[in-house]
Amino acid sequence: MGDPRDDADLAAEALKVVADAAGPYLASLGDRLVQDPATGTLPDELDGPLPERGDGTLAAVGELLRVATDAATHSSGPRFFHFVVGGSTPAAQAADWLTSLLDQVSGLWPASPLATRVEDIALAWLKELFGLPASHGGVLTPSATLANVTGLAAARHWWAGRHGVDVSADGLAGLPRMPVLSSGYVHPSSRKALQILGCGRDSVRVFARDDAGRADLAALEAGLAAVGGPAVLIANAGEVNTGDFDPIAEFADLAESYGAWLHVDGAFGLFAAVSPRTAHLVRGVERADSVAADAHKWLNVPYESGFAFVREARRLAEAFGTLEAAYLPVGDEVRVNFNALGPESSRRARALPIWATLRAYGRDGYRAMVERHHDLALLLARLVDQAPDLEALAPPGLNVVCFRYRPDGLGEDRLNRLNAELGERLLADGRVYAGTTTYRGRTGLRPAIVNWRTGEADIELLVSVVREIGSGLV
Ligand SMILES: *Cc1c(COP(=O)(O)O)cnc(C)c1O
Repeated sequence: MGDPRDDADLAAEALKVVADAAGPYLASLGDRLVQDPATGTLPDELDGPLPERGDGTLAAVGELLRVATDAATHSSGPRFFHFVVGGSTPAAQAADWLTSLLDQVSGLWPASPLATRVEDIALAWLKELFGLPASHGGVLTPSATLANVTGLAAARHWWAGRHGVDVSADGLAGLPRMPVLSSGYVHPSSRKALQILGCGRDSVRVFARDDAGRADLAALEAGLAAVGGPAVLIANAGEVNTGDFDPIAEFADLAESYGAWLHVDGAFGLFAAVSPRTAHLVRGVERADSVAADAHKWLNVPYESGFAFVREARRLAEAFGTLEAAYLPVGDEVRVNFNALGPESSRRARALPIWATLRAYGRDGYRAMVERHHDLALLLARLVDQAPDLEALAPPGLNVVCFRYRPDGLGEDRLNRLNAELGERLLADGRVYAGTTTYRGRTGLRPAIVNWRTGEADIELLVSVVREIGSGLV
């Protein structure tokens, strides 16, 4: 064996092997451990020298399936509260398989008019979902980090233009450092974007009024006044420790007064716009010059998937330029080359799962999910308040609750060590996953709720497992 042409007839059978395993796997997600200490070990059996003669399609796929379904972190199940990680809705998951089946390269319209057109539709639907003007320009990206790169690249092009430089053609040489201002809520992803863009991750100047990182608007205003020229303001919609928000409308006012570019990192927090109950948290986001968000988090489509919007549509093309080469087609309004609007060239047709999940569940479905997750965060906060050995470290945010295990009579240092240990034990136990953080000097847990499968019983289990493991450590 060794020639895929010999196995051409087995292609559908190999897919069927995976499809047959899918039902039992998905059904198991409700009960199984997030990570099973017994089987979730490193899959060393997949290692070995590069095969000279291949095993063939069914053997290779079968072996990977057998090992991976055990060794995987079952993060698309309902009890993975670590980081901010969504699952896959049934429609998104199936459409993602279809994306692989069709193997579209999307980026140059002649390569896949289908992918281009569906990306247009998906972007238009996302704008409607979040209440962003239809005139905004947009592009799908692999992640919020790349969406931050996209938005901040547009900002950088605008800023350099104000200094008389076309940064896409000529680069940053000779320019001063780009002033970037934010609150203490700024996510490392924005810093990484600035690092990639040659602005430096430490170019962000933080204006916070407390050790939680809340924005100091007066100091921000003074900072903008001191810059005295074009600057970039980053507002954070959804802070990862507590789910809190910068006041975006106030940031937009400042940006307007001082002629600054406003970029909003709304990786998960942008979804507050989906419910009238929480939309006030992102009031003003429609005025931002650029907005970055994730689809693989709260939209619950498979990895990798994010998106970026800009208020003035032409900004993306300016920042990412045309790839000029004799063999490449020139785009226009309809025949869009999305690879000229973002950092990628060849791209997966990630619009298909986004289209499918929005078509399947609509605005109502997403509103219900965001509200359910908000309710679950409030439930979690109530259970924390009721438990004598748990303590909230911050008010519940949109979908994140920051708290710690706090038995009586222990000093702060001891409590920090205890909670760090608790975080490690929790992952080793595997029934629920949640990550630790340090918030205002205190170590605690910061479960984030973004998975469509999660329900009340999962939240109750999280609380009882934390208390059970915590009590064993004292
Ligand atoms: C998750 C997250 C990011 C980065 O998203 P990726 O998809 O992992 O690149 C950026 N900002 C915030 C606020 C986030 O929560």
